[in-house]
Amino acid sequence: MQVDGNRQFELLEKIGFVRMSGTAEELKAAHILMDEIRTMGLEPRLEPFEVHYGKINTAKFAVTQPEYREYTVTGYRCAGCTAPGGEEHEFMYLEQYDDVMLQKAKGKFVLINGRMTVDDYKKVYAAGIAGFMTMGGTVIDEVEKTDLDTRTMRDSMREVGVVPAFHIRMTDALEILKSGATKVKIELDTEATTHTSNNVVVEIPGTEHPDEIIDVGAHYDSVEFSSGVWDNGAGSVTIMEMLRFFAENPPKRTLRFIWFGSEELGLLGSHAYVKQYADELDKHLFMINVDVGGSVLGGNMAVCTSDEGLCKYVEYLAKEVGYSTSVRNGIMSSDSTPFADKGIPALNFGRGGRGPGMGFMHTRYDMISLISPQALQVVTEFAVTFADRVVNAVVFPVPRTLPQNIVDQVNKYLNKKPEKKA
Ligand SMILES: [Zn+2]
Repeated sequence: MQVDGNRQFELLEKIGFVRMSGTAEELKAAHILMDEIRTMGLEPRLEPFEVHYGKINTAKFAVTQPEYREYTVTGYRCAGCTAPGGEEHEFMYLEQYDDVMLQKAKGKFVLINGRMTVDDYKKVYAAGIAGFMTMGGTVIDEVEKTDLDTRTMRDSMREVGVVPAFHIRMTDALEILKSGATKVKIELDTEATTHTSNNVVVEIPGTEHPDEIIDVGAHYDSVEFSSGVWDNGAGSVTIMEMLRFFAENPPKRTLRFIWFGSEELGLLGSHAYVKQYADELDKHLFMINVDVGGSVLGGNMAVCTSDEGLCKYVEYLAKEVGYSTSVRNGIMSSDSTPFADKGIPALNFGRGGRGPGMGFMHTRYDMISLISPQALQVVTEFAVTFADRVVNAVVFPVPRTLPQNIVDQVNKYLNKKPEKKA
């Protein structure tokens, strides 16, 4: 069988619509993937899991001093509610998380520039802020050409404590600061909701070692406003083509293909999967993950969440077959991380990272016009070559242990406290 970039591209066009976690559109995409799997004579299954997030009923923000002016904002899902009808607070720009800024922040509603990590949040929460607002986009964005996304206060932040939280366009944030705002009125009403998201799973039993399982995964959900073709419709169609190869070339070890839902809300599909299969994870030797791909102006990437030996193996194999790729040892903010958390090594394939000419992650500009069949095909061919070798190896070559540097990265990423020494 030949890997066919055009076939991949056609499937990518079919699933290239907004498909957010727990929505009817995400389920629709799952069914399109299942229909494609059935064309190979295989029967996939839907594995549902619950996702919890919040509905925003009201999110209002206005500067009240020196002059009244309302701004468009989004509220953070699962953040704290204000008093009904809103609250007025003193306002400040918390430029960075240093002691001077933190001391001034007490009782105030603060504007933050950049990402707020859990550690940052612990600092501002301890400082006694009344609420916070992050900013999105850039200072040159035009309103009609950009979207303001809705953020979620994750459980790791909620555990610290909840305050009202908002997100605003950077152009508006700039205007607010230039206007010398000193007081603001905020109103936020959020409500906890539960939805169902699904992993799509199909298995090809191994002919010689059916009890040794290798997982091949890609997430198929997208964020709001984004058709998510680069991130990660591309990975979804890449593993579909890999499935097609192995359906025709039965592997010695069992291959389990998983299209994960709800990755964008915090790797929820892969977390649900490793939880669901907790009892059999000692049979899972390895994971192959594909996240982002198909970008014409991209470059190929491989991230080895494993011992360094795998990096060399991938480098040598790439040279042998003439495949251009960067190779790095580490973790990815993707579905391979919950597997690594259970001690399962992984190889992540992707294509991107060469500058702004490719997909604009998590925006409406992650577009099919930036994707080509050739760019999909080249990565898929290499992924098939790699998988074909390791899956059929006499002795599985990648040790099922993770070195300490990877364990530390995973724990840091998942916000785990260091284990206490006995
Ligand atoms: Zn992704």
